[in-house]
Amino acid sequence: MPSPTPIAAEPGPVVALMYHALHTGATPAGQDPHYTLAADDFDLQMQEIAASGGGSSAATLLQGTSRARIVVTFDDGHVSNHAVALPLLTRHGISADFFINPATVGTAGFLDWNQLREMNDAGMSIQSHGYDHVYLTQLDGQRLRQTLKAARDEIEQQVGAAVTLLAPPGGRMPRDLLSIAQECGYTHVLSSEPGVLAAADGASRPLPRMAMTAATGHLTFQRWIRRDHVAIGHERLRYRGLAFAKRMLGDTGYERLRAVALSALGRGA
Ligand SMILES: [Zn+2]
Repeated sequence: MPSPTPIAAEPGPVVALMYHALHTGATPAGQDPHYTLAADDFDLQMQEIAASGGGSSAATLLQGTSRARIVVTFDDGHVSNHAVALPLLTRHGISADFFINPATVGTAGFLDWNQLREMNDAGMSIQSHGYDHVYLTQLDGQRLRQTLKAARDEIEQQVGAAVTLLAPPGGRMPRDLLSIAQECGYTHVLSSEPGVLAAADGASRPLPRMAMTAATGHLTFQRWIRRDHVAIGHERLRYRGLAFAKRMLGDTGYERLRAVALSALGRGA
């Protein structure tokens, strides 16, 4: 079992941002508009991160080779991660972790292994989002271990770099996920729950991330990267309200309600 290292080895809290897809015009077909940001907005955000001490992948931070206090991550392996995010990250000297599902690699709308290898060669970190996008809370213990191991093995084999980080799909975490993930060779789990990482947190709890969505205003983004505890506390409260709604409605009921609300706003896709 790898020995867990504190992710924030340097003093001072770290904030991690969670992105999904980017677009340069209209939201690509089949992509959730809520989780798709305009490339220009992302460019401006990376510019500000570069100007405020820089940003890095969690993997780089763990190697102790970065003093950045802002972590940039992407979930799902959307094809725009290569076409749009990679050149912008490179331009601003920022590395990021990309959490992908081997089952969707090379399918319509998603990155293929060549693109992922190219991203790894460019200094990006390619990590695990589970094998497919099934919520880990829906799997029994044996199936959970199988899926976590299979994802890690296949990404390491295809990309040729160590996979040590896990971001569970939909942020859904079964009990004991941390110890099961460590048993399967991961050193850290990144959650979808907002917050900051303190040096003292180590690997003993999932590392929080701030979800960057189409609705995240620029002022809010600026407060988050300054690790403003009022703005981050506000987002935590909002997240807890949503988590409560999800528990009450169940995953299917919640997704259905959200689809109705989005189409009522004329944003359904
Ligand atoms: Zn996901």
